[in-house]
Amino acid sequence: MKAAIFDGREIRIKEIPIPVLKDNQVLIRVKAAGICGTDLAISNGHLSVPIPLILGHEFSGIVVDIDKKVNPNWLKKRVTSEINSNIDFSCFFCQRDIFSQCESRKALGIDINGSFAEFIAVDSYLLHELPDNISNREATFIEPLAAAYQTFETMSLGSDDKTIAIFGLGKLGLLLCQVAIINGLEVIGIDHSDRKLNLAKNFGVKHLINNNENESVEGRIKKITGNLGADIVVDTTGNPNALKEIVSSCRSRGKIHIKSTHGLDTPINLTDIVVREITIYSSRCGPFHKAIDGLSSGLISVKDLISKEFKLEKITDAFNSYKASRDHIKTIILI
Ligand SMILES: [Zn+2]
Repeated sequence: MKAAIFDGREIRIKEIPIPVLKDNQVLIRVKAAGICGTDLAISNGHLSVPIPLILGHEFSGIVVDIDKKVNPNWLKKRVTSEINSNIDFSCFFCQRDIFSQCESRKALGIDINGSFAEFIAVDSYLLHELPDNISNREATFIEPLAAAYQTFETMSLGSDDKTIAIFGLGKLGLLLCQVAIINGLEVIGIDHSDRKLNLAKNFGVKHLINNNENESVEGRIKKITGNLGADIVVDTTGNPNALKEIVSSCRSRGKIHIKSTHGLDTPINLTDIVVREITIYSSRCGPFHKAIDGLSSGLISVKDLISKEFKLEKITDAFNSYKASRDHIKTIILI
């Protein structure tokens, strides 16, 4: 099969054997796979992974083969897959259904081979069948959309939580805007791309801040929030320089939620956080069933979020184009 192999320096298309199924695995013929910020951080050398490795963990495809222990009903089903592979179902975290922290977990496309290939083998318990009204392309948004939902699963909202400032309106930021609105929050969207700010506006974001302009983001968030600061501030930027402003834009006793995995060291003023009694949250992965319901019901729209599409053979061009454009939202690899 054709696969995009990351060798620690670059990604090259190679011909390699189709994966051999292990117990309880299925073989998926990949149809579409999204490039995520995590893939970019790995390809930039900011996150270390075992090499050689096939990257990619946001994908859809068709089940074309199954291990004998797998329910045969999965055959020929159109599916997407969760990322938390190799789960032991017995450790401290698994006993509490926290599979993202399972002690034996291996993440698809990060610890073990992912989806930038014609075929991928995944554990059958990771599968979700796709409804007919979610296309293969749209299905590549399910994993990040689940992560957007998870933001509000890990951080309970109180009666004083009314405003949320979302730093970065890329794919995750724009999904977060929509989930935040569903949760009844008033959203302040911050980005330097007018195109992304316009998309946020179309999704119902009330306040838009272009951080290219001279006035400080903190100052403008204070103006919007009666000088308090936002009740919740979310970072999706992966920009260590943004963190100072993220802390200063949060109201005292507010919540900061970190969503980016950029792999960079980030200086942070802990004193300001302690003095103003700010709580820091973080989360990743999330409930796929909620994401599938959100997309299928039309509550969440990913129309307009696909910036570019490339064939697998052109994956290097796809990564380069992602890095080059500030207006970039999501690139999809069609396989
Ligand atoms: Zn476990």
